[in-house]
Amino acid sequence: MQPSVVHPGAQNLRTCFLDRDGVLNRKMPEGRYVTSWSEFEILPGVVQSIARLNRAGIRVIVVSNQRGIAKGLYTSADVDAIHASFQEQLKAQGAHVDHFYFCPHDKQSCDCRKPLPGMFDQARRDFPEIDPAHSAMIGDSLSDIEFGRRLGMRTVFVEGDPEHRKAGAPDAARLADFRVLSLPAAVDALLDSRQ
Ligand SMILES: [Mg+2]
Ligand SMILES: [Zn+2]
Repeated sequence: MQPSVVHPGAQNLRTCFLDRDGVLNRKMPEGRYVTSWSEFEILPGVVQSIARLNRAGIRVIVVSNQRGIAKGLYTSADVDAIHASFQEQLKAQGAHVDHFYFCPHDKQSCDCRKPLPGMFDQARRDFPEIDPAHSAMIGDSLSDIEFGRRLGMRTVFVEGDPEHRKAGAPDAARLADFRVLSLPAAVDALLDSRQ
């Protein structure tokens, strides 16, 4: 049996990867997408949680699958505009995201749709000091948890509200290091586990 080395980097969390829809903003009903800023409803406590990560010196990176672009429902420019407005809103409250990445592709057509690691690779090109052993992934889908686990990060599954829970939720809950109801609880779990 292997010795159980739990989270070798637990004392040293440097980068937090955040999923977007369902973690930062309210998820649309299944099959619908956030296509504009007016549909981007920031969840309670999100701005404060990002500010807390910022104050702790932890890099905050958003990694988001946006297949709606491949479906022609909105464009990459629309997503950039949403992220710019969100960033403006954060900065007005003393918080910021270090970088937003998104995958605009359809299923099985790229190497950057989570759980594939393409967005991690992009982030590491921009921030070469990123180390998965000192990183965590917070998300509300099985693909987020698989993304983080395959790269060797700590993972936090945000269960969110039951009616929006996805098919892979039981597996995600089982595989994740922490299960919580919201981003504020995820940040609590990660920062408190550093002690
Ligand atoms: Mg999500
Ligand atoms: Zn992609």
